[in-house]
Amino acid sequence: MKPMGPIPEGFGCTDGVMTIGGKRVDELVSAAGPTPIFVYDFQLIKSRISQLKAAMPPQLAVHFAIKANPLPALVNMIAPLVDGLDVASGGELGVALATGTKHISFAGPGKTAAELTAALEAGVILNLESEGELRRALAIAEKLGKQPKFAVRVNPDFDLKGSGMRMGGGAKPFGVDAARVPAMVRDIIASGADWRGFHIFAGSQALDADAIAETQRQTIALAAQLSDEAGAAAPFVNLGGGYGVPYFPNDVALDVEKVGQELAKSLDQRADIIEKTKFAIELGRYLVAEAGVYLTRVVDRKESHGEVFLVTDGGMHHQLAASGNFGTVVRRNYPIAVASKFDTPPSEVASVVGCLCTPLDRLGDQVLLPPAAEDDVIAVFMAGAYGASASPSAFLGHPAAHEMIVGIDD
Ligand SMILES: *Cc1c(COP(=O)(O)O)cnc(C)c1O
Repeated sequence: MKPMGPIPEGFGCTDGVMTIGGKRVDELVSAAGPTPIFVYDFQLIKSRISQLKAAMPPQLAVHFAIKANPLPALVNMIAPLVDGLDVASGGELGVALATGTKHISFAGPGKTAAELTAALEAGVILNLESEGELRRALAIAEKLGKQPKFAVRVNPDFDLKGSGMRMGGGAKPFGVDAARVPAMVRDIIASGADWRGFHIFAGSQALDADAIAETQRQTIALAAQLSDEAGAAAPFVNLGGGYGVPYFPNDVALDVEKVGQELAKSLDQRADIIEKTKFAIELGRYLVAEAGVYLTRVVDRKESHGEVFLVTDGGMHHQLAASGNFGTVVRRNYPIAVASKFDTPPSEVASVVGCLCTPLDRLGDQVLLPPAAEDDVIAVFMAGAYGASASPSAFLGHPAAHEMIVGIDD
């Protein structure tokens, strides 16, 4: 047997069947048509956002990084609950603009001329990733006759400790090395552009409150230093995010209260030059990961060399991350359950595999589950972020998974 991550809170059980947003999984599955499906409980997202906001300093803006879950209907529902949307492609920009949200910022390397044009036309903030991008964006803005809104994405000299995915420190394709930022800021201001400050993103998926607090302290200090060197206070600083969620055995949920208290201190103690600066964090998975479940049906139950395999109609083409092939070095088990036997005590070790013809396609490796048979429904948790949109859905030509939202406000 191999351990699995903790099953997130917020899911219920009726007559032995798992419920999501109070709805039985068997009913959700038959309403959706063929399995597999993704189900997102909007009420879980809503309460997550309000708990987070209560824990953060009141003046801090909270943005949603929509690459974690760009489903337009869901982004539409989240947009009014947050202070801004951060996008990383022209496609995401379209989704964000359709919500009518006022604050949109666009980061990401390799923005094409078409993407820059769409962003400048819409008047969103461009988080510039290089001096070359500044040059290209200025030329397009001039042609359009628009005053561009520019922030500089900084590649800091530090990174978020314990971070699942390092995005800062050393040579990186993201942002501009801190040492070159002041000169770039002076060029931006001299060009007549609307100078919007800094975007400093140092990492992702951290569960250690002290590490996040320390990174935020360093980020605020860096914003002050760069403002000093540029001779202009940053009007706005996006501190990045990195708030993680517990996917794996021994992962413990992030203490956001502690992060909030430490951040309040760091903001209170900030240098005078950034006294009037406004601050934001941008979170993806922290807002949505735990609210989503991937439901897939057992098609075949078989044995090989004494081991039980539950072969499902789903797999890594929909939920790549659970198979361990999305940014993890060692494959570990996501939380997984037999949704159709949710209160049956586990008594059997089985491997839950997908229907793709590759050994990579494993959703649960030797996990302890209630004995499951053909037609039982398996729930793979933590599917609200980097699930449907972050999986190679064309691989092997199976249909895409249907996505549905429950717990919608009346
Ligand atoms: C991916 C990304 C995020 C979201 O990361 P999470 O780990 O999902 O919170 C935020 N900001 C930037 C710049 C990103 O690239």
